[in-house]
Amino acid sequence: MFLKGQRPRPSPSGPRTKPMNPTNLLFALLASGFFLTQGGKGNAQDVPSPQAVLGHEIGTKFSRYREIRLWFEIAASRSKGRMKVQSLGRTAQGQELFLSLISSESQLARLNRIGEELQALVSGNNRPKNQTPAVVWLSFGVHGNEPSPSEAAMDLCHRLLTSAEGKKLLEKLVIVIDPCLNPDGRERYVSALVSRLGKDPDPDPLSFEHREPWPGGRTNHFLQDLNRDWAFQTQLETKARIRAWLKLPPQVHVDFHEMWAEREYFFFPAELPVHRSVPRSVLRWHKVFGEANAQAFDAKGWRFYSGEDFDLFYPGYGDSWPSLMGAVGMTYEVGGHGNAALAYRRPDGRIWTLADRVQRHSEAAWSTLLTAAAHKDALLRDFYQLHRDAELEGRGLKDRLLVLSSPKDPGRVRALGSLLLAQGLKLSYASAEGRGRDSRGRTYPVLKGSLILDFAQARGRLARALLERESSVSHLYFYDVSAWSLPLAYGVRERRMSEVDVPLRTGLPPLPSAAPGGVEGLFSLVSAKRGNSPLLAARASAAGLEVRVATKAFRIAGQDFGPGSLVIPTPSKAQRSLLAGLLKAFPDLRPLSTNRSRSERGPDLGSPSFAPCVPVRAALAFGEGTDPNLAGALWFLFEQRLGLPLHRIPLASLSPQNLSHFNLVILPDGGLPSGWTSQRSTLERWVREGGVVLAIGSSARAIHRRILGGKSQVPSTGTSSKTSPKKNERQALRWTTPDQLARESRERRNPGAIVEVRLDPRRLLAAGYGKTIPVLVRGRPQGFPEEGKGRIVAFYGKTKRLSGYIPEASLRKLEGRGYLLQIPLGKGAFVLFDQNPQFRLFWHGLTRLLLNASFLLPRRRIPPFPTPSNGR
Ligand SMILES: [Zn+2]
Repeated sequence: MFLKGQRPRPSPSGPRTKPMNPTNLLFALLASGFFLTQGGKGNAQDVPSPQAVLGHEIGTKFSRYREIRLWFEIAASRSKGRMKVQSLGRTAQGQELFLSLISSESQLARLNRIGEELQALVSGNNRPKNQTPAVVWLSFGVHGNEPSPSEAAMDLCHRLLTSAEGKKLLEKLVIVIDPCLNPDGRERYVSALVSRLGKDPDPDPLSFEHREPWPGGRTNHFLQDLNRDWAFQTQLETKARIRAWLKLPPQVHVDFHEMWAEREYFFFPAELPVHRSVPRSVLRWHKVFGEANAQAFDAKGWRFYSGEDFDLFYPGYGDSWPSLMGAVGMTYEVGGHGNAALAYRRPDGRIWTLADRVQRHSEAAWSTLLTAAAHKDALLRDFYQLHRDAELEGRGLKDRLLVLSSPKDPGRVRALGSLLLAQGLKLSYASAEGRGRDSRGRTYPVLKGSLILDFAQARGRLARALLERESSVSHLYFYDVSAWSLPLAYGVRERRMSEVDVPLRTGLPPLPSAAPGGVEGLFSLVSAKRGNSPLLAARASAAGLEVRVATKAFRIAGQDFGPGSLVIPTPSKAQRSLLAGLLKAFPDLRPLSTNRSRSERGPDLGSPSFAPCVPVRAALAFGEGTDPNLAGALWFLFEQRLGLPLHRIPLASLSPQNLSHFNLVILPDGGLPSGWTSQRSTLERWVREGGVVLAIGSSARAIHRRILGGKSQVPSTGTSSKTSPKKNERQALRWTTPDQLARESRERRNPGAIVEVRLDPRRLLAAGYGKTIPVLVRGRPQGFPEEGKGRIVAFYGKTKRLSGYIPEASLRKLEGRGYLLQIPLGKGAFVLFDQNPQFRLFWHGLTRLLLNASFLLPRRRIPPFPTPSNGR
């Protein structure tokens, strides 16, 4: 770790984090003696109060992110070696992410060494020593429209650096303050809010300042919820943070939030269910910290609650992931959120201000630090021990090895392996083919390149939480989804074994080297089985090459090609070298080269069964009412992962008349663009010419029902339809407690589970898949009633639940209904998904369905737009 104020030392991993450059503004302020005059009493060398830098008292205004950063920079420069600021890189909007590290001068000077000591506690290479401080990591403002935590971070830090009590804390602890985990979201919230404020704050909940405009500031630039991303690390903010975490693994982590404006303060213990992999000692510490917070709040006369609303099950939160990593991970919540603004009138008439929210967070953080310092040695002992226990538990498993492979698409298993390595898990791979056996004596082949994870490792509990099929639970309440099993989400094969007989190497298998050749003939053929083939179709057609896609199976040179396979004619040398250049990015594709059009089976290469793939110009239409996470995920997928342009268009602007700019329109869950139902004929003409509409969830159902005239309603899931009037009467006569009612309503909810759907492998849209795929179903899955019309590409079969909780009634109702439809019209089609195939950007297993629909189906050619002239 390279920290501000230290000389750079070469490190084997390279300086991933760079020191922050003090801003010119900071220099200007320091040079002018600003703090002497503005700070009032004290001298220029003291740590200035936040007010002295911000120009306002904390809690009276929203501080802008650059002001928060400036205060931390100045405080570090005046801290006399007790605080350092460490840059973590920049957000998508170019704002610098940073941590501040606070401890005694001597401990801060040997911080790298302390980090190594703590890593040795994880690996078991060392036992805790008396002089090792505990690390308490405090995360503020992961949700941008929950503004008080970042304000409290400054208040807390100032108190630590300027009070006698703070000085004692610094002797025992290293305190990591992440003042703002989501600067882009915070700026979106604060700038919208500030523009709505009048001369004085208006506490009336009906006023403008209590209404946050869509999509709100909760998420980051790509509209992703960073408090669902800890275990899945799809966003750069999460990746940067976890890299720093692994170098200085904390024993306590608190994630500071805001919730419903009318609630009192919440701290741990958590609500049930708690994931079974969370170590018992961590659960005991939750109570200890909760009790200390309770005393601190009672002393102030402040109300609070624990053990309700916030569970500890889904592993992607800022409390569950840290807990699975062995820290005492907790969430603290204060009433506030995007509608609380600067002052909010609660129903009982109390005015609840930003300053009230800041005070409570600051006090809860302080109490947490006091508790951690008081129990420092016990925390470190437990931290060491829980990792040993995890190793032992793993050794006790019958089949402690998990073997993962994805022979058709090696990219998927590699992506999963990188994710596991990035959270400090140990992995190896088979460097040659071999066999393995399970505890029942059955033997299985182990393919070359398979990943092998041994659950008997220090972080084995995290591994089990992320990778095991089921996370069993007895308590039916979920704040989030109930299933996420990564082998299912990534669409890779998994097998538990007790031993393997293969040569093992640590880390990830090397990438296959780019196979040259394959382009010397008149035609290059790429099998649909290869994961990246639709992406090659997109890139090659955009580069001006002719690309055709097989709609039927064929055989050539003894090799079978399924629907979705590509034929790229390259009669000229220039075309062949262009294709060879594109193929360098896809070493797994390995095309077959031929000079003959004659097939041994199925259509010849000149047949109309090979449809043209045209350059795709895609529009993602979204706006108020759309699911922002899904819209953002699709945006991120195209722009960041695929490196392809995507036009983001407001829903209201994409009328049927404007469709001519595009040949692919993607509608995330949420609604239809304006005029689509009233000007159906214009929309249909566009589709007939080869346009493709890809719609998801409620948008797909709206198209199905209102444009295509289908019936997509399912009878309601309520028990009433199955209960006779007499039984209803009897039930009404019985006493029913509110708890019973709550339980029954929970039993009917579908928090999100993984089920199997059946695919028709003869369809172009299903190219690259086998006969079944695991999908996540959430909310009210309905399916499409389209049996026997040839439109269903995937359907919920005799539905098999693979993981998580789903009510039996929901499962039964889905049976036989469509999950994915392709409704052809002229040369184009409507492609309708019942459920989100890109859930939180970690559901890699379904990405290929989106790629097939996006790049293999559009047929409408768009003339190139004239380049804009410079004149007026
Ligand atoms: Zn939150």
